[in-house]
Amino acid sequence: MLKEYHRSILEHSVGEHFSPRALEVIVEANLGQDNLAGLVGHPEYHFDDSAFEASNAYLEAQREIIRETVRGEAPIERAWGAFGRLSHAAQDFYAHSNYVRLWASRLTPCNGTAAMGDIEPLDEDILADEMLHSGKVYWMEVISFIPALRPLAARILPPDSHAAMNLDNPSRGPLFPAAIAAARKRTVYELERLLAEFTPAEQARFLGK
Ligand SMILES: [Zn+2]
Repeated sequence: MLKEYHRSILEHSVGEHFSPRALEVIVEANLGQDNLAGLVGHPEYHFDDSAFEASNAYLEAQREIIRETVRGEAPIERAWGAFGRLSHAAQDFYAHSNYVRLWASRLTPCNGTAAMGDIEPLDEDILADEMLHSGKVYWMEVISFIPALRPLAARILPPDSHAAMNLDNPSRGPLFPAAIAAARKRTVYELERLLAEFTPAEQARFLGK
């Protein structure tokens, strides 16, 4: 997902709950995952390569950093950084896997009028579907760094590639709004899940209030 969408998803999903300073640190950590060092050799940062086990373990490791930091003595920025990284991976899941396509393929004439915003981010049937997979990043994908060459990459790389599968930006077609909607809802879910574990004082510390 392109940086502008990660930023906008954070601002419109959980932005109002955090202090401006906390949100700034979260956004910076989220966007930092797409720097070169985070793109090479880290499929778990972006739910790429169908590395779902490693990606889910990465999410849990970030949650653990948040719990430790909120309840400990370390600067709270550490927890905000972890939430930025956690939200990046969780958001990329909907842009890099075929979760959204599987959801759309289940729409029937009865529920086919479901709007893109109606997507549920953690549908157990879809998560358990053996067809669920995410795009492989091939070395030739480097040409996608030049925006004008992205359509070419999508055409010449295999159907299982990140280039051919991604819902990273609006040019990827009508399912892009569903990827954004699912990513927003998932980001809210991740925040609520953590807050439910905390005391009111811990919640206030985490939210930077
Ligand atoms: Zn990413």
